[in-house]
Amino acid sequence: MSDVILEAKNIKKHFPIKKGLLLRQVGSVKAVDDVSLIVKKGETLGLVGESGCGKSTLGRTLIRLYEPTAGELKFHGQDFLKSSGDTLRKQRKNIQMIFQDPYASLDPRMTVGQIIRQPMDIHNVGTNEERNKRVLELIELVGLRKGHVNRYPHEFSGGQRQRICIARAIALNPELIICDEPVSALDVSIQAQILNLLKELQEKLGLTYIFISHDLSVIEHICNRIAVMYLGKIVEIADRDELFSNPQHPYTQALIGAIPRVGQGKKKMKKSLGGEVPSPINPPSGCAFHPRCPHKMDICSQQMPVLEGAGTHQKACFLKTT
Ligand code: ADP
Ligand code: MG
Repeated sequence: MSDVILEAKNIKKHFPIKKGLLLRQVGSVKAVDDVSLIVKKGETLGLVGESGCGKSTLGRTLIRLYEPTAGELKFHGQDFLKSSGDTLRKQRKNIQMIFQDPYASLDPRMTVGQIIRQPMDIHNVGTNEERNKRVLELIELVGLRKGHVNRYPHEFSGGQRQRICIARAIALNPELIICDEPVSALDVSIQAQILNLLKELQEKLGLTYIFISHDLSVIEHICNRIAVMYLGKIVEIADRDELFSNPQHPYTQALIGAIPRVGQGKKKMKKSLGGEVPSPINPPSGCAFHPRCPHKMDICSQQMPVLEGAGTHQKACFLKTT
């Protein structure tokens, strides 16, 4: 299939826990535990789940910011885990990342122009003049003004800083951008503006996004397809409308039930989903969600459900679909 950009098979990322003088490994944090997925050209694939479910670790592992503990990764059909040298450099140019805290990812001593130029400097793209011209183009493309080019990050608001990060991320014309909670630190009124900018850029530039958020209403706004994660695994994946109209995993149902709607408080989440995400060091047996699941059956603590289903809607749950 030519429209598949990225393909992950049985990806695991376990962080070793070391103790004592000899730093002996005494266990591991199973942050991502056996995830398979594909990313198709032009789509926005959402990764959603409570904090600690492994979304950021998965995002970073998919682009080799972390080396996976196990599994296969293909980028345009090529073994991404084996690439090195020039090939890897080209692939890295093609994949960029945007983070939650724009201030932390911007060097306060660099001007906006220098920040946006940096990827072109690093990858040695174009002449000095071409780079400067491109910086001004990018500044306008993300809705800032040319006059901002010589200013410093602290002179901008949170939303504007995220625009600077976006300009830097698209500077090299990447194909895929991993957006890790890009609006979570922003006021709700600003969130929509940044989400709309991302959508606009996607249309103009043919971008593909993996969009990470713990906030299902943000995910609903921007994603075509959504993977729900729980404790290092995908528990349900479907197209957006299908997931929201026909959620099948009790965890997805609880998350959807907890979206605050007009005239309704946030209380429902607490009612339908008690407790917190368990530790990925010692995940519960069987289906890791069973201790919190309102529909728990005997089998749920004994066997691990596999992610399966007809067509594009898949879930990992023993409950019969109604
Ligand atoms: P999310 O983005 O969904 O909040 P993360 O991917 O950040 O989740 O974290 C998943 C789990 O992995 C958490 O239990 C977290 O504490 C752990 N974790 C994340 N990064 C590291 C790391 N570098 N070393 C050890 N544990 C980590
Ligand atoms: Mg995260």
